Amino acid sequence: MAITTRCALLLGLCWLMLTGCARGPQTCAVCDRDECTGMGFRVTLESGKTITTCCPRCGLHYGASQKVRAYGATDFSTGQSFDAAAATFVSGSDVHPCSRPGAMRDAQGCCAMTTYDRCLPSLVAFREREAAVAFQKKHGGELITFAELVSKK
Ligand SMILES: [Zn+2]
Ligand SMILES: [Zn+2]
Repeated sequence: MAITTRCALLLGLCWLMLTGCARGPQTCAVCDRDECTGMGFRVTLESGKTITTCCPRCGLHYGASQKVRAYGATDFSTGQSFDAAAATFVSGSDVHPCSRPGAMRDAQGCCAMTTYDRCLPSLVAFREREAAVAFQKKHGGELITFAELVSKK
């Protein structure tokens, strides 16, 4: 077996064991990770096609190069889907369920992985601004609206 294949398997295994969050049934169309419940994001294109990503960060990255009709976010506090345009996001908090834990990367040793992570800084969506504020107080990060996010890119 090629070393790279073995590493990938090991990594996958560790990832499954170390990741605390519940995994959704979908796989991210951008980074191929499983969707984290409470973080899922949907991008509906002009063509009518909808893709699902593991988190808003991936969804916005994808949408930046597409003709997008609508973005759908998941409210982190309730798990319900809603229009991302109305969301308040917390960027760069200490909650980043879809990024790989750094410790695991070191423990594996063998795998040359970039430190760049598509999903970081993490982006968590909230329907209620108060919920976002409460989350930010606990987990740090910065409050940001959808309009600000889109104009930042
Ligand atoms: Zn992703
Ligand atoms: Zn992600």
